Order: sequence, then structure tokens, then C-alpha cells
Amino acid sequence: MTQSLFDNPRSKLQKSGEEKPLENPFEFLNPPNDGGPHGPVDHSASKFDIINRPIAAFRRMSASRLKQLEKLGLKTIGDCLDNYPRSYLDRSELLSICDAGRSGQVETIHGKVADKKDIPTRAGQSFTKIFIYDGTDGAALVAFGKRAGYLKKSLKLGDPVVVSGKFKRSDWGIETTTFEYEKLTNEEADLIHTGRIAPVYQLTAGLQQRSMRSLMAEIAREYADAMPETIPLETRLKHSLVGRARAALQIHLPDSHEELRQARRRIIFEEFYLLQLGLLWRKKRHETRRKRIKFTTEGEKALALLNSLPFQLTKAQRRALGDIMKEMRSRSPMNRLLQGDVGSGKTVVSAMAMAWAVDSGYQAALMAPTEALAHQHYETLSAFLSPVGIQTVLIKGGMPAAERRAALTALETGYAGVGVGTHALIEPDVKFARLGLAIVDEQHRFGVNQRVRLMKKGVAGAHTLLVMTATPIPRTLAMTKYGDMSQSVIDELPSGRLPVETKRYNETRVDFERVFNLLIKELKKGRQAYVVYPLVESSEAMGDIRDAVDGHQRLSNRLPDWNVGLLHGRMSGAEKLEAMEKFKSGETHVLVSTTVIEVGIDVPNASLMIVIHADRFGLSQLHQLRGRVGRGPHQSYCALVGWGKTDESQARLEAMVQTTDGFEIAEKDLEIRGPGEVLGTRQSGLPDLTMAHLTRDSEALKAARDAAAAFIDENPDLGGQGCDAVRAWLSRKWGGRLRLASVG
Ligand code: ADP
Ligand code: MG
Repeated sequence: MTQSLFDNPRSKLQKSGEEKPLENPFEFLNPPNDGGPHGPVDHSASKFDIINRPIAAFRRMSASRLKQLEKLGLKTIGDCLDNYPRSYLDRSELLSICDAGRSGQVETIHGKVADKKDIPTRAGQSFTKIFIYDGTDGAALVAFGKRAGYLKKSLKLGDPVVVSGKFKRSDWGIETTTFEYEKLTNEEADLIHTGRIAPVYQLTAGLQQRSMRSLMAEIAREYADAMPETIPLETRLKHSLVGRARAALQIHLPDSHEELRQARRRIIFEEFYLLQLGLLWRKKRHETRRKRIKFTTEGEKALALLNSLPFQLTKAQRRALGDIMKEMRSRSPMNRLLQGDVGSGKTVVSAMAMAWAVDSGYQAALMAPTEALAHQHYETLSAFLSPVGIQTVLIKGGMPAAERRAALTALETGYAGVGVGTHALIEPDVKFARLGLAIVDEQHRFGVNQRVRLMKKGVAGAHTLLVMTATPIPRTLAMTKYGDMSQSVIDELPSGRLPVETKRYNETRVDFERVFNLLIKELKKGRQAYVVYPLVESSEAMGDIRDAVDGHQRLSNRLPDWNVGLLHGRMSGAEKLEAMEKFKSGETHVLVSTTVIEVGIDVPNASLMIVIHADRFGLSQLHQLRGRVGRGPHQSYCALVGWGKTDESQARLEAMVQTTDGFEIAEKDLEIRGPGEVLGTRQSGLPDLTMAHLTRDSEALKAARDAAAAFIDENPDLGGQGCDAVRAWLSRKWGGRLRLASVG
């Protein structure tokens, strides 16, 4: 125990002398509820009765006040305890005004309003200065417009105030323009030197900071102790986490910066811990279900396929295949995510798994998000599979009736071993004789329901699902968004691939000519090129967009010796397919398109990707687009044309130039866009993270996942009295979402 305490981050700080050591590190731990290391956590689930009490039961309050609180999502005592402050006003270190304005940091002063002045500007407007005096010197709060009016009204001469802000010294004296302030009562003014760090809460119309703060303080003082512990003692010791009750109190009423830091650490850990408990429990529950289909160990066709490949599988491909086969063979259902950068060779791996399913007497289905992609998969897979005696059929929307009937019959009778298609595959009249393996490509394009519907077509629910994605997922995201799936990563490209050379161009005449010359050069070498635009047709609102249709026209005019094809979302399925086929066969040399070619299209002879208005694309989208080239033996190029008007778009384009590694790109994307947007917790059915931050707190996330895994291992069904509180916490955080298993 002592050992692990020495490892904790706080002891490191201790050494560097940044923070005062704690007298007694154990002080941070609430007395244990019992001794068992992974045993019961908190017997008193009845504590939930307390924290689930409505606020109204705690204190008499007006209906309008209750409404205001409800607007902020606060209905129960527990809601209030979980309503963490938005920020803190540091009153613990008050500075005399005569010392303010030298540190360049945010400083806090305390004084009385001594004067108010409107100062006219030359432009005929005015600003306001409110002078605060504390006996050592005076400082001015400078405000403009609405804020000035509000300040003048709310601050009366003689009012005691506390102000936190960045103060500056100049010929005008000590001033601040960026500040937060708070008017005090006389009583508070007397108490202020006791030095509190005061919480600042989110408010709603009609609710003052002061009333909010005192309500929260009362509730925290009264009920923080009732917060049931969720994290086992051993885990708390290992990671030096303060107890739940203490964290609940200190987050609202911090005694010191250190206490606040510890409270935050604890709450962040807990958010991850409960998230992981839920995910891992869901995973476990899924795994312990018995699968009623069995895959053989012998794989005649799979072996033949392996031997027929014109290349050696990469080490990463073999590892992924090994994972998949092992799990298919096991008695529990498979729910696996296969990640691999564009071009890493996922299709071959999936073909092997399908061949093996057929060897075992089952059929396999592969669902792709677009018709073009389904068609391509169909072609690739038939080329792989028909030589080893496996029939593949394609199911898509708008097929001629006779063709469709033939395909359906082939699946229903079991003549075809593999069915490939778009979501047309999950229509009710598509029936399989013995579907044993369901594969979904580019899962983020499909909803959970569509996945489930495909699986339901299987033998006994065919609990064998493989999900493929060419969008690499950062580790932190893989642990959260896909935390209930087992995962395989193909993190290696087939050897001999040359990284795509990427360059940025501005939207100037000169740069367009440069890009055009690059295009001519590649065409003369016998290569092909993509030109991608963000929209189909220019609309009024985006008048400056050179749309694909227009671009196609111009390029056709300028390239009389070459064939320029066009592909966009408003074309019919057949037209799109024709355009794609012509490009694949080499009949068209340049394909002008919108992002319909984004995923999965494989034309090895294409060596140039030109993206127009590249600043309008997301990072992972750009990476997908670039992945369309560099698939053959030739050196390939990617030209990103765009200004990058915002810092964010600059950062995206820069990231593209700097790396071709999909995982690095994915991490960058997470950094630029922020986890909220990438995680999309609401859609993904995960509880929100309120204090924890996916990238900033990634260490805590990993530790919490390990701790949760250990807990689940010892309490696989979260049953028994000892888990009452944990279950109650899970249902509090997850609500009904925990029931919604990822695959149904
Ligand atoms: P992904 O679907 O992961 O983007 P694909 O499966 O389409 O990648 O593979 C891209 C290209 O690389 C295909 O032409 C495929 O035949 C080829 N390929 C796959 N694995 C290997 C390998 N181990 N060595 C050489 N080429 C490979
Ligand atoms: Mg692919």
C-alpha cells in the first residue's frame, strides 16, 4: 500500500516542491465501509433514498425557485450534489490593491466601491470606470456598453466587493478589463479573510449567484456524507483517491486548492470508472451468452483461399485473423471491431473469415453503406471466393426483379455462401439458409438497429458480428465509444507502399495552374486522378463554391485529349455505378466527384487526389479521401486546395501535410474537434462525461478501465447485496441505456 502511494502523482509533485505535502495521505480516504479489497463497496444502497429525495423536501422553496432549479436539471438532492461549479472565485489569497497588477496572473482583491465615472471617447461613445479602494490603493474596473450599464446599476458607492481579474498598471493607475466580481453583504465582507475558494455555478434567469451558492453549500454540508461510495478501497488506495463523500463536499466548498484538486481527480476517475463498469458489464453479459452455432477447426476453402493470394498477409493481418478465428470458435458470441487504416487490407481478412464460415457450414453476409462500395466488395469478394468454390451474390436497391429473385433464392437455398449488399440486405424478404457470420463495413454509417436487423437473419440470432472501420479510432475513444466490443487493429500497411506526398495550395490562379500541371504530368505517365468537391451544386448561400458539375465542365474543356468523368450524389445508382466502372476500367482518366467516393473505392492506378475547398472537409474525411490513392506501386500525390480561413481548418490541413498515419490523424482530430463532438455520447448511448476529459485525462481513463475490469472479474453479474450501491450508481448514471446492449 505504501508502495503505491509513493507512485501517485501527488508524491511526484511533492518532490518537485510545487505543492505542500499532505501531513497524512490517508486523511484523504474516508473510513472504509468494509475490509474486502474488491468486495462490497457500500452496503447502504438506502443512501440512494436520501440523495434521490426531491429538493423541495429539503427546504421550503417557492414554486418559481423550484422551476428555475429544474431548468438547470436540478430536481433531487443528488442532482444538486452532482451540479459541479462552472469555475471558482479564489478568495483564499487576497491581494492588497497596492500589490496588484504585477504578476500578470489572475489576482483577487477586496475593497469598497469608491467612485464611478463615465469617460467619453473620441468616437462619441463612452466607457465606465468603477473605482475600488481597500485602504492601500485604488483599482478601476473598466467596462463598456451593456456591462457598464449593469455594473453602474448594481454597484453602489460603499458596497463591499471582491474582484478576480487580470490587473494592469499604467499611467492611468491599476485597471482591469477582464474580471469577475461579486458584491458581498457586510457579514460576508467580515468573513472574507477566512479565505474561501468560492464556487461559481451556472445560473438561469432570476437566480442569483449568491442564492445558488448558499443553496448548494447547505445541501453539500448536509448531504455530502450520504453520497454512497462506488470505488473499492483497494482501488482508492492504489490511486490515492479521496472518498466520495469528501469529494462531494470539497467540490462545492473547497478548503484549499489541494483539496479541490483531489476532489476533481476523484470525480474524474469515478466518471470513467462508472462508464467502464457499464461497458464492461455489457460486454461480459454478451460474452456469457451461449452461442448455438459452432465453427469447425478445419477450413478447406479458407486454406485454399490463403494459398491463392498473390501476396503474404502482413503480420498485423495475421494477428487480426487469429483473433477473429479464435473468437468465432469459442462458445460465446463475437462482437468485434476490426480497425485498420485505409489500404491496410481488411477486405482480405474479412474474406478469410467468410470462407471459414462457409467451411463450417454457414453463410456470411457483408453490409456496406453505399451502393458503390457494396458493388466493389462484391467484385473483390467474388474474385477471391469463386475460385475456392464459394458463390457470392449482391443485393441492392432497385435491382431488376428477375435478378433480385435469383439472388434471394441463392441465399435462401444456401446455394450462395456469401451475400453482399447495402442496407437492402436487411429488408424482410431477404432470407438466409444458415447465416452464421455478419460483417458490417464502415459501421459509423449504420445505426445499431440496422446491425441488429442483419444479425437477426442469422441462425439463432447469429451472434457472430464483425464490424470493420477504416477510420482509425484513438485509443481513448476505442475504450469508450466501443468499450463493449473486442477489438483488433491492423496497424501495418502491406510492404512496398509509398506514402502519399501531400501538399497545400491556395485558391489562387497561380496555384490552380500548379495543380493543373501536376494533373497533366500524372495523366501523361498513364495514371488517373480524382478531383473532389465538397458540394453538388452551388447554392445562393455558398455562392463561391466551384461545384463539381462546373468543375467537370471546365476540366473537360481543358483536357480535350483525356476523358473526364463525373460522379455525384444526385445521380441515380446506375449512373453512379457506370461512372465508377468507367474509371476503374481506365476508360475515364479523371473522375470529378463529390464525396461519394470517400470510402473504400479501390483503383490502384489512381495516383493523384485533388481536393478543392479542402478546408471545408473534416480531418478524417480528408484522410479517407487521400486513402483513395497510394494503393498501387506508383508514387502518389494529394493536393489540398483551400485557404484554411480558421485556426481549426489550418490545423486540419497542416496535420494532413505532416502525417499519413491514420492513428495520428485520428488523435489530432480528437484534439481539434474536442471529445464531445467526436464521442457524440447522446447518439452513442453512453452517459455524459461532465468533468472528465477524454484526451486530457487519458491516464485516469486507462486506470479506471483496469479497475473496472478487476471489479467485473470478481463480480461478473454485479449481483449480490455487496453490489447494490454500484448497481444503483450505474442505473443513476446510465439510466435505461445500460439495457440497450450494443448488438441487441
Ligand atoms: P482496406 O479495405 O483495409 O482499405 P483493402 O482490403 O481494400 O484495404 O486492401 C487494399 C489493397 O491492398 C487491395 O488491393 C488488396 O488486394 C491489397 N492487399 C491486401 N493485403 C495485402 C498484403 N498483405 N500485401 C499486399 N497487398 C495487400
Ligand atoms: Mg476496404
